[in-house]
Amino acid sequence: MMQGLGCNHCWINCNCSLPCRAECKKRTEPEAMFPRAFSSFAAIPQARQAMSRFVRMNATDSKSRLANKVAVVTASTEGIGFAIARRLAQDGAHVVLSSRKKANVDRAVAELQTENLSVSGLVCHVGKAEDRKRLIETAVERHGGIDILVSNAAVNPYFGSILDTPGEVWDKILDINVKAAAMLVQSVVPHMEKRGGGAIVLVSSIAAYSPFPGLGPYNVSKTALLGLVRNFVPELSSRKIRINCLAPGLIETKFSLALREDEATLEKTMESLRIQRIGVPSDCSGIVSFLCSPDADYITGETIVVAGGAPSRL
Ligand code: NAP
Repeated sequence: MMQGLGCNHCWINCNCSLPCRAECKKRTEPEAMFPRAFSSFAAIPQARQAMSRFVRMNATDSKSRLANKVAVVTASTEGIGFAIARRLAQDGAHVVLSSRKKANVDRAVAELQTENLSVSGLVCHVGKAEDRKRLIETAVERHGGIDILVSNAAVNPYFGSILDTPGEVWDKILDINVKAAAMLVQSVVPHMEKRGGGAIVLVSSIAAYSPFPGLGPYNVSKTALLGLVRNFVPELSSRKIRINCLAPGLIETKFSLALREDEATLEKTMESLRIQRIGVPSDCSGIVSFLCSPDADYITGETIVVAGGAPSRL
């Protein structure tokens, strides 16, 4: 940072050369920033207090919320994962994007880089142990550690009766949607511990509570994530790592196209909504940023439903 210029995290010229988020004490001392304004209010304690509050609110712009954090987001080249990756980067994190196809990774990284966001990417099929290992190791090697994991990948290769679902379909869905998430959590924990803690979000679904017709194994896999989070909490809490779930409702993405094109499902979904519109990926991103931020320091083991008021809860 140049002397005398406010850095990205500090909207005020604080006249020092330190990377201010990390080291500059003046950043949080409004009196030091506005000595003249404060001295003229010196005799009025309420005015001093109000001004202090005003300066603090404005000095903490949204970019600083996740400053110096490294986030890994799986399945993040499109849809909800992409929106989450963008928002975490907008809020100051360096984000490692990933998905199965290199062309998608390159496109997504390039798009966010044109927005001046700090992102990198690599190929990771979450069902492949070697890909998961490479994702975590590369993130640590390139960026010095991992503070945030968003496990977002899921598949649904089947539509039909749960009674007729072949064993291989169960294997594939549980492998990608549940086991891969658990394995990713296991592998980031030692790295988060080295950083003094971390935050994890698993992307579940409203289907965890209210099953989508014809998607039995998928629905079950999403309910399993709620249990996975609850089971991880005791061991992660003692390591200062928080873990929560996001449960989106019907969101406009490629993944949900079949559901949205099915008139009966769409009608049933619209009837259940209190907010009369289908969600968009960015509806899911701010809440994930919040869950990964210090503002959520006392929140773990929870599932946040983002579903336009559709009924949820078991
Ligand atoms: P989407 O728009 O279709 O995007 C899917 C992303 O996942 C792509 O980036 C894709 O890229 C990647 N991907 C697919 N399989 C992968 C794998 N095995 N390993 C790594 N990456 C993989 O999907 P979405 O709707 O955003 O869904 C994201 C998550 O939200 C899922 O967990 C889904 O269950 C959940 N969800 C979605 C809705 C909804 O209505 N859309 C509702 C509730 C929950 P590549 O093709 O390059 O791999």
